[in-house]
Amino acid sequence: MMPDTLPPKADVPDDVQDAIRTLIRWTGDDPDREGLLDTPKRVARAWKEYCSGLEHDPALHLSRVFHEVGGYDEIVLLKDIPFQSHCEHHMAPITGKAAIAYLPDQKVVGISKLARVLHGYARRLQIQERLTAEVAACIWDNLEPQGVAVVIEAEHGCMTGRGVRTPGVGMITSRLHGCFLEDHRSRKEVMALMGYG
Ligand SMILES: [Zn+2]
Repeated sequence: MMPDTLPPKADVPDDVQDAIRTLIRWTGDDPDREGLLDTPKRVARAWKEYCSGLEHDPALHLSRVFHEVGGYDEIVLLKDIPFQSHCEHHMAPITGKAAIAYLPDQKVVGISKLARVLHGYARRLQIQERLTAEVAACIWDNLEPQGVAVVIEAEHGCMTGRGVRTPGVGMITSRLHGCFLEDHRSRKEVMALMGYG
């Protein structure tokens, strides 16, 4: 995941630092007090990293495929993949886990690539519904499998830390393509494997 991170001391333009100082002042604190002096730079660099998924097309992770599926015609599943994203409405953290499954046709990829696609779409301002749909569409379009299923379960900082303040409440979203959408036995099988049976 190295290319996703900036060098630790990347320059932060003055206007970006000023924006963060303005926000600190507006919330009632003093951006000139000692503990906050370097905060604008730190916040700016952290945000560049939270949004580092914008630097590359996540589909690049699926560009190296293997055509030797060796007669394997069962579901490939990666589950409990932890991720962090940020909601585009409050810029608050979205923390959760994803399960990604596909039924290969001609192409397979190294299993870690599925997680890289997830992180590519998660590391930007998002809503959970779009994140789920984008990960599923990327795999569907690039691997041309018989089916794709993506289920994401996450907590939203904008619900747990502000507003209605309901910690522990998870939101579940799913997106299905191909056989998992059309064939109800395939859907039951993949959902059971994911632990949602
Ligand atoms: Zn939000």
